[in-house]
Amino acid sequence: MQQVESVQTIEDVNQIALYRKRDIALVRGEGVYLWDSDGKQYLDMMSNYGVAILGHSHPAVTAAITEQAGKLLTCHQSFYNDARARFITALEQLLPIRLKRLSFANSGAEAVEAALKFARAATGRHRIISTKRSYHGRTLGALSVTGEPKHRGLFEPLLPGCEQVPFGDMDAIEARIAGAAAVILEPVQGESGIRPAAAEYLRGVRRLCDEAGTLLILDEVQTAFRTGRTWAFEHSGATPDIMALAKPLANGLPIGVTAVSDHVASSIPQGSHGTTFGGNPLICSAGAATLKVVSEPGFNQHVNEVGAAFIERLRAIRHPLVREVRGLGLMVAVELKRNASPVLQAMQQAGVLAIPAGSTSVRFLPPLIIEHEHVLEAAAVFEKAVESLE
Ligand code: PMP
Repeated sequence: MQQVESVQTIEDVNQIALYRKRDIALVRGEGVYLWDSDGKQYLDMMSNYGVAILGHSHPAVTAAITEQAGKLLTCHQSFYNDARARFITALEQLLPIRLKRLSFANSGAEAVEAALKFARAATGRHRIISTKRSYHGRTLGALSVTGEPKHRGLFEPLLPGCEQVPFGDMDAIEARIAGAAAVILEPVQGESGIRPAAAEYLRGVRRLCDEAGTLLILDEVQTAFRTGRTWAFEHSGATPDIMALAKPLANGLPIGVTAVSDHVASSIPQGSHGTTFGGNPLICSAGAATLKVVSEPGFNQHVNEVGAAFIERLRAIRHPLVREVRGLGLMVAVELKRNASPVLQAMQQAGVLAIPAGSTSVRFLPPLIIEHEHVLEAAAVFEKAVESLE
């Protein structure tokens, strides 16, 4: 195995420096644990940004990938494929009755791009309302509805007709909704620090959309399966017209899905959207295996119970630098009164990996199979890390 220094050198010299790197090379994972190139073990409280929901090297996912790899890796969507059909069937059983028509993508941003295109095609309108502090991805369309100026600044002008209003402010949407193609929201804002939308807000936006003939797009790229319900919108009952999905669907392999209503699907002409890799058999087989586990009875209850225990333990921490603990299910953040990096660094030293959200929040998106003992350990390590701050 290559030494960590040589891995670091290769990545630092030959990659565009888009990421602030953490100083370890992760080389192996099993269950809720990861190992670095020195053999040090870490408790994974981030699942690679909300992706590996069944943990690492899950036997059912590994078996599905291995079997499919020996059969067929790639199959363009102009041909039918058995693995793709299995994935569609598994996802269809989880989707709400209103959203049974799918389009494949390869990432969250692409699933959002498709959502924006489909909303334009279905309404004949182009304006899109989104929210401040939102995150929908880095491609130019997804960036146009992302509410963080720091991501957008360098790339403006972006798509015309995209406007961001404060998250949670119904009046601001009501004032602008006439003639809009869509409103796009995260049911829980993830990147900006885990901010759940109030149920009345989502229901209110649903009503405003119905009155204005505007489509409601919910971006569940980060929230799917993670909030204690299959979809985060279920906490409010506000079903969208279009839903963007990605991160957890194939437990780590790149996938995106845009699910739409029959009404939307019927207005999208053949040939108006497409992707070479989307819906490929390898990823669909991993996806079908992942969704089978997600569909098992008790899955959501487990997420609810372990998430609630974790949040309760974090809320019991009394420290002057802790501003707020926010969370829903196993989507949790602690906002500090200062930059979160030293805490993340101290936790990493102590063998627990978490991630930032914004500059001041420590975010936890653990594998959803995590147990009480793990989250209690993570909370204790977090507490010590905060206490070690000067
Ligand atoms: N939407 C949301 C809500 C996300 O959290 C993310 C990724 N953090 C994206 C879209 C973009 O996904 P990707 O990085 O796969 O393009």
